[in-house]
Amino acid sequence: MAERILLVEDEEKMARMVELELIHEGYEVTKAYDGVAGLAHAESGGFDLILLDIMLPGLNGMEVLRRLRRITDVPVILLTARDATVDKVSGLDTGADDYITKPFVIEELLARIRAGLRKGSAADQRRDGKKENLVLTAAGGNLVLDVDRHEVKVKNEPVELTLREFSLLQYLLENKGRVLSRDALLEHVWGYDYVGETNAVDVYVRFLRSKVDERFDMKLIHTVRGIGYQIREE
Ligand code: CA
Repeated sequence: MAERILLVEDEEKMARMVELELIHEGYEVTKAYDGVAGLAHAESGGFDLILLDIMLPGLNGMEVLRRLRRITDVPVILLTARDATVDKVSGLDTGADDYITKPFVIEELLARIRAGLRKGSAADQRRDGKKENLVLTAAGGNLVLDVDRHEVKVKNEPVELTLREFSLLQYLLENKGRVLSRDALLEHVWGYDYVGETNAVDVYVRFLRSKVDERFDMKLIHTVRGIGYQIREE
């Protein structure tokens, strides 16, 4: 199966050029022209590597990277402007795997992509090698969440979740039986310095309920009024 690369770059001509080269090399490419769209694609998951421009309209690349690192360790290569040393340092601090300075020759980019992909699959193998395949269950074993495989099944049917929905469900399951406040969920699933909408937890609980509870006619996620949410066995 072709390896999937997400390319977040606002200069469309440049993005198109890189896309054509990557397709030529046999990669599957998804493009996004701004940070918000890039983050949304990245959060939906399924990429083997992300090429991320730093100077982007809307949400800049550093902010995209910071948010991304809370939910995934997919290899990220930053595309930086020439001589932006500060970007490179803070990019690597924020969790980028590598960077390449624009303008670059395509061969160098391809080499860095290959290295990034190797690193990513080595990390996957290390995780697999540990054999502590973490599987969480609920609803009397009807719901199974496999952390390493990033899979959720209900009554043996696969359920498609975004990375954020998956993280939320995982955290709720890890704390099955406990009531979790919205603040605790924000802190663990979104990060303690989250500055977005404070109703994000409620919104994502709604998404989960429609994909799990409503679809399979079960009651998994309980609202505890004035406090937060809880998964408990019926
Ligand atoms: Ca740019």
